[in-house]
Amino acid sequence: MSRSAPMKTHARVAVIGGGVVGASVLYHLAKAGWKDVVLIERDELTSGSTWHAAGGMHTLNGDPNVAKLQEYTIKLYAEIEAASGQSCGVHITGGVNLAGTPARMDFLKLARARARYLGLAMEIISVDEAQKLFPLLDKRHFVGALYNPLEGHVDPAGVTQAYAKAARNLGAEVYRFTRVVELVARADGTWDVVTDKGTIRAEHVVNAGGLWAREVGRMAGLELPVLAMEHQYVITGEVPEVVASPTEMLHVIDFEGEIYMRQEGRGMLIGTYEKAGVPWAERETPWNFTHELLTPDLDRIAPSLEVGFRHFPALEHAGIKRVINGPFTFAPDGNPLIGPIRGLSNYWVACGVMAGFSQAGGVGLALANWMVDGDPGFDVWAMDVARFGEWASPAYTHAKVRENYSRRFRIRFPNEELPAARPLRTTPVYDRLQARGAVFGAAYGLEHALWFAPPGMEPREDVTYRRSNAHAPVGNECRAVRQAVGLLEIATFARYEVAGPGAGAWLDRVLANRLPREGRIALAPMLNDHGRLIGDFTIANAGADRFVVFGSGIAEQYHRRWFDAHLPASGVTIRSLASEWMGFAIAGPCSRALLTQLSSADVSAQAMPFLAFREIDVAGLRAHVGRISFTGELGYEIWVATGDEIALYDALASAGAGLGLTHFGARALHSLRLEKSFGNWAREYRPIYTPAEAGLDRFVDLTKPDFIGRSAVAKSRAPARRLVTFVVDAADADAVDADAVDADAIGDEPVWHDGKVVGWVTSGGYGHCVGSSIALGYVPAEHATPDAQFEIEILGERRPARLVSRPLYDPAGERMRRS
Ligand SMILES: Cc1cc2nc3c(=O)[nH]c(=O)nc-3n(C[C@H](O)[C@H](O)[C@H](O)COP(=O)(O)OP(=O)(O)OC[C@H]3O[C@@H](n4cnc5c(N)ncnc54)[C@H](O)[C@@H]3O)c2cc1C
Repeated sequence: MSRSAPMKTHARVAVIGGGVVGASVLYHLAKAGWKDVVLIERDELTSGSTWHAAGGMHTLNGDPNVAKLQEYTIKLYAEIEAASGQSCGVHITGGVNLAGTPARMDFLKLARARARYLGLAMEIISVDEAQKLFPLLDKRHFVGALYNPLEGHVDPAGVTQAYAKAARNLGAEVYRFTRVVELVARADGTWDVVTDKGTIRAEHVVNAGGLWAREVGRMAGLELPVLAMEHQYVITGEVPEVVASPTEMLHVIDFEGEIYMRQEGRGMLIGTYEKAGVPWAERETPWNFTHELLTPDLDRIAPSLEVGFRHFPALEHAGIKRVINGPFTFAPDGNPLIGPIRGLSNYWVACGVMAGFSQAGGVGLALANWMVDGDPGFDVWAMDVARFGEWASPAYTHAKVRENYSRRFRIRFPNEELPAARPLRTTPVYDRLQARGAVFGAAYGLEHALWFAPPGMEPREDVTYRRSNAHAPVGNECRAVRQAVGLLEIATFARYEVAGPGAGAWLDRVLANRLPREGRIALAPMLNDHGRLIGDFTIANAGADRFVVFGSGIAEQYHRRWFDAHLPASGVTIRSLASEWMGFAIAGPCSRALLTQLSSADVSAQAMPFLAFREIDVAGLRAHVGRISFTGELGYEIWVATGDEIALYDALASAGAGLGLTHFGARALHSLRLEKSFGNWAREYRPIYTPAEAGLDRFVDLTKPDFIGRSAVAKSRAPARRLVTFVVDAADADAVDADAVDADAIGDEPVWHDGKVVGWVTSGGYGHCVGSSIALGYVPAEHATPDAQFEIEILGERRPARLVSRPLYDPAGERMRRS
């Protein structure tokens, strides 16, 4: 790289960090046409975790949107080589992902199924075929494999230089050996980026600090949930089979051995994510750490290497030529952290990228789109920094990153709740629910009941891709709700108070539906400027310029970031009630009788019709009660002050006993809402869908003169795809006892029509009260016709699925409106 240019005093963007991620962000901003973009690097480019990476790349990721970005990253190398004249050392060898167990085969079949609707070519192959592709393996240890043509490796330094040179060719500048020491937020929303070589005033800053992302976060008062782990790989001596091979060895992942491999010279590179992983620089990353490696600790990875030598015997005698131990960073769930930060103007992050050579291109594109167009351009929910709230403390991050590292190659089953850092947040009734047999999950760090083990059953769920031991108890919970009354804690719902003289006008602008009158509730989507769904809320008008807004708990930070960015300077205040209010849903035909017993207020159908919202007494406590239920039954959501939650719970549980009250959890709620074709945030409703596609257009009021997203929605034509409901014939054709092995769709399965993949599933499960396996998903509008026949690929089998145009349960909605 040539000498750095003299530093500017003003820039539109200062990207902090010249690893592969910062260089990609710089390139994408320059490519998008932004001028005056600069990158500031403390040392030489790549001097953090980038330079010693193994450079491996692939398109396998549990989140389909991240998988797609990985494909983009790999395909981008040809473009940046052409734009820079710098080789990236690309070796697309193809990859074999080896399964040692039937459960792993299910995992690979799901990955292959997802790949189909993403347009990624992956194939399930036999062990014999795998051995033909990768002759070093001992077949006895494997049951099958997934072949992925888009895998291989690159030269980490070459890639980073190529991004940087290509960006410079587009006018961007790179300042090396320049350390950012301080960030000063200015009143106009810009930043003084103070470096050891002078200060740059930048409109935007991007934290691509990699190993120092935490420290660059702290410069702006942030504690980002990232932690570095030590990671080791070894390079073997010469392997005769490798030397003799006419073609380069394929990239290999041996999941059960927990190792990855590729050819390096005349031997192999073998890396592993050991179970007892070791964090690095837990509190603070030293600033003098540059192009350095850590002391190797072969003992730590010896157990994995032994497995490797058993599974790939030719390696055993090759000897180890070199051991690399280097640190790199992870977010608690292993996916990147990108996007703007709530409450900070023009401060962006692109960090926690643990697979830079598969992901940095996509991360750079998404962030650049976001900065330039105000929207990442595709679905980045799984990478959005806002998926973590303030609760993601350093202790939480520490526990989760270690857990995630140790499980890097393990299966996470769709019904699996991981144990680290739990319980982190609990509600006052946690112990009482536990005493009732609650099996808990954690959502946004909060413990909530998934289902209740009946007396005599251990409160523990078997992890599986198929129906679990929770299937029967959940069925009982569902039936109790439909036949009598169920009780569900609803602390996972987000709740906000919006108040002040400007509250109504402001909500009217940020939400797409008409606001409810006083004492009423309305459903309202929130749209971005492109007319895409960024939220689905329930709004209650509490009178006197006060509204209570209910939304998805996991999206709290995501929504508050949007709210804060759109709040006027005065006249409206918005505050989260998450710690102040706790609540329960009571649902089912006996729910009114239960409420009547506990309240002195008139809760009759006349006084409290469907979608009413009242402040009344319940069990002698001041409560806000909405007549609404996500179960599709007559039901109420009752909110009280957090200090009153236990009293409310005890009163509901004891008065409900005579009415057949049953506790139910999130699993039953999921089944009940599928029977009603009700969509859910982050599944059916995401920022890639329009309200018309998601069937929410009836909640968009185009007679309102002005709201965010209105002009985009008004201009849009008939939707190209639609959210639909399927009844799935989920029985396994080969099973002797079909009930014992049934698997439902869970989400992300491809939907086939006439031998082609035409859509995807967003959620699935069993409808216990309608006796059908149900899936919700998107298909092209022309196929969204009643009774149209499809197939949904579940665990490698294409199961017949019929489109139903009305909800399977109570299609006219009479039960929830019942008088
Ligand atoms: C042993 C090992 C093997 C790996 N193998 C692979 C692999 O096979 N495939 C893969 O995809 N990934 C692999 N990785 C991970 C990969 O290295 C990372 O995903 C990637 O390097 C992250 O890049 P980054 O730009 O975010 O961070 P970094 O490379 O850490 O870059 C951050 C940069 O910011 C600079 N910086 C920080 N603070 C400041 C400041 N205040 N002022 C100026 N500059 C600053 C630093 O000097 C540094 O250059 C491996 C990592 C290790 C350790």
